[in-house]
Amino acid sequence: MMLPCSAALTDSGVALVIDQVQAFLGRPLRPNLRAARRAGGGSHPGGGTVSILSDPQADPSDAFRLTGRVAVVTGAAGGIGREAARLFARAGADVVIADRDEAQLEVTGKEVTAAAPQARVLVVPTDVSQKREVDRLAERALSELSRLDVWANVAGILRHGAMIDTTEDDLAAVVGVNLKGVYWGTAAAGRIMMAAGRGSIVNIASAGGDMPTPNISVYGLTKAAVIHLTKTAAMEFGASGVRVNAVAPGFIDTPMVAVHWTDDSGHTDVEKRRSMLELRAAQAPLGVTGEPADIAYAMLYLASDASRFMTGQVMRPNGGVVMP
Ligand code: NAP
Repeated sequence: MMLPCSAALTDSGVALVIDQVQAFLGRPLRPNLRAARRAGGGSHPGGGTVSILSDPQADPSDAFRLTGRVAVVTGAAGGIGREAARLFARAGADVVIADRDEAQLEVTGKEVTAAAPQARVLVVPTDVSQKREVDRLAERALSELSRLDVWANVAGILRHGAMIDTTEDDLAAVVGVNLKGVYWGTAAAGRIMMAAGRGSIVNIASAGGDMPTPNISVYGLTKAAVIHLTKTAAMEFGASGVRVNAVAPGFIDTPMVAVHWTDDSGHTDVEKRRSMLELRAAQAPLGVTGEPADIAYAMLYLASDASRFMTGQVMRPNGGVVMP
């Protein structure tokens, strides 16, 4: 399709370009774009049509607030998910926390309430590898908290092993959580958010999705797939005002990586932990490993209006360990 570059500088030129794009897409563009601007983050819910970003009197930190919004976080019993749930609630959101680890999910619920007493917290034990359970999670968020603004797909698992030793069970388990879980979550959130004309989906990928790494082949391919599905969803959902982005963390000290220094009885080998963290830190230009908060703040940016012009992108809080 050829677009007239010089004409695009005038109002009639803009109209011509929009007409051509609509003809190319076979659907109207302008109403959707208006909806996208309204909801993708133009204004806070119920806050009228003035964009917080274009208000010269506004406190810049208000663009990061989630007041009046509802955020779903999967994997919320774990390191990064728990921190994200706490941070979203501290930023003003009501949160729906989901995980298959029910006992630790209850702990997260208490921590969220302690950090943000005003937040409503809905605890929904969920196996994200099961489409029916993910759809039910979305339905409960909507029916019990009345809206859905943010959906963070954080749940994930890691299995180590050489490619030549990988079993069908290894492959099915990791694909089931890391790929199908994110896929079903993105679809369930997209269905509701597109109808509402607003929303932000944040998928957790990994530096391993950019960087082929021996002995975690299945994990790496699922994380590369998360980056790809994030971009595809951004294409499908954008015209309805729904943004989809990914965060690809570097090494973060959480229960997932503690397998490196924890034995079967749960005992931590302190020396092993120290040397592993030192090794990982030395691989990054910043010379440090990360904490869950480093990822949660990137997620807050993508969840909030501060990133209203971003979709289909990957943020990489990773100490510089990979720069694709
Ligand atoms: P984590 O502490 O192990 O948290 C992951 C949580 O997801 C756990 O509570 C886990 O429960 C849960 N989960 C696993 N399978 C599930 C399922 N089928 N349904 C619902 N929940 C399920 O690990 P994390 O480090 O916070 O990881 C969070 C995300 O960051 C993951 O997607 C991970 O791949 C990604 N990531 C982590 C790092 C890192 O260095 N830590 C780096 C890059 C990316 P169980 O404990 O029962 O498995």
